[in-house]
Amino acid sequence: MIDDMNVGVVIVGAGLAGVSAATGLRRRGFDRPITLINEELPLPYDRPPLSKELLCGDRSVADITLHNAEYYEEQRIAIKSGSRVCGIDREAHTLRLEDGQPLNYSHLIFATGARPRHLPVPPGSAPLTRLFHLRELGDAMALREHLAHDRHVLVVGAGFIGLEVAASARRLGCRVTVLEAGPRVIERAAPPEVSAFVQQVHQENGVEFRFGTQVLDVIEQPGSIAVHLASGEALAADAVLVGIGVIPNDVLAREAGLACDNGIVVDQHCCSSDPRIFAIGDVAKSFNPLIARHVRLEHWESARQTGEIAAATICGELAVNASVPWVWSDQYHLNIQFLGWSDPRAEKVLRGEVGGPGWSLIEVLDKRVIGAVLINAGRDRRPIERLITSRHVVDMERLADTGVALKKWVVA
Ligand code: FAD
Ligand code: NAP
Repeated sequence: MIDDMNVGVVIVGAGLAGVSAATGLRRRGFDRPITLINEELPLPYDRPPLSKELLCGDRSVADITLHNAEYYEEQRIAIKSGSRVCGIDREAHTLRLEDGQPLNYSHLIFATGARPRHLPVPPGSAPLTRLFHLRELGDAMALREHLAHDRHVLVVGAGFIGLEVAASARRLGCRVTVLEAGPRVIERAAPPEVSAFVQQVHQENGVEFRFGTQVLDVIEQPGSIAVHLASGEALAADAVLVGIGVIPNDVLAREAGLACDNGIVVDQHCCSSDPRIFAIGDVAKSFNPLIARHVRLEHWESARQTGEIAAATICGELAVNASVPWVWSDQYHLNIQFLGWSDPRAEKVLRGEVGGPGWSLIEVLDKRVIGAVLINAGRDRRPIERLITSRHVVDMERLADTGVALKKWVVA
């Protein structure tokens, strides 16, 4: 039997979600021990700059560290870095570290994030030194070494990682070719109009694209690397960056018998099928009452918010994860923000002019705003978010009229 007064919260994974949960607990006056266990060695850091400012050399490792060591000490948050959790005993409320050490918990939070999907590599292949994925600080530092003027970089995948790295690599003077299996860029997150515009901006900046491309094999020789395509073609380069999506780190939870379905299934309070165990951030598939279904979001704001919700729930507050998904991506001069959801049945309202100084494509279903993509139009984020949550009936003509302030006048 666990004595809850002396045993505290153990958080597995110290990315943004894990750190948000730990700081959220202390902010709410939680007084028992908090332990953050992290497989990575550096102090917890922010991931978005890895593909942008850190890669371009505009920000340093110190700049992207979430808090310094003194902060965790002051907050009495114990961090076990370079330590991996490898098993959980739910009956005994104990987890096992890789070094064999057991650790008791009153509540356990999974904040284990996700790992990059890899291209299939023939068994027994030697590790490739010019092939990169981008998830951790070490990945970004290693890739940076290869991004010099006139080097040729092949980017596999035209999702968020692929496009952000392509933009950073162009800034550093590299030649960039993007190979995408699908028919357009950021296909899952963006409507075709936005994909076409983003692709055009990349092409104007010198990026070459090949769609419907299937990479069969990657072969490294001294001084270069080549990808072999299903078309029979081989493309040589100085480096290859693979950004073809991620897989949630839910193996421990599955082994412990928790409900999982492409992520750990949790309710609107971030609580799993075991009332003492929570899941947050990229690994969690949480119920969102706004759309009445479970979704797994792989974005910064969701990691921050779900950390707060788990902390609040453990502290006895009735916190609900009913937020509107929000994602941003910076590429060249573009700040692209995605809000809410997309639906093939939705009508699209263009507010502003495509390619103009700031414009948005807003999705309206049954006369209600359900989502939007904002291009250099961050000022519209909050009003659109309110339109999504309030489910007000909107006047589509006014919604399209940039002369009408979104704040007040679009409600019919
Ligand atoms: P993570 O940050 O992945 O942290 C999980 C941690 O858990 C890792 O350190 C891992 O090592 C550790 N761990 C896993 N298993 C174990 C174990 N068994 N024992 C101990 N530790 C373990 N989102 C945006 O909205 N906008 C952006 O511009 C943006 N840019 C991004 C750029 C890059 C390069 C990347 C990779 C992501 C970006 N994201 C962006 C997404 C965002 O950063 C993630 O959604 C967020 O970091 C997820 O946080 P997390 O805490 O859930 O997981
Ligand atoms: P992603 O956004 O899911 O994009 C992966 C892209 O690669 C998709 O277009 C995918 O097509 C394509 N693809 C899949 N298999 C392929 C193959 N074999 N060959 C060529 N293309 C292939 O994932 P990501 O860009 O790798 O990003 C990884 C994670 O980091 C995600 O969680 C992402 O959200 C996060 N991230 C976010 C941001 C941001 O929010 N600004 C920035 C960087 C990273 P299909 O869709 O058809 O599979």
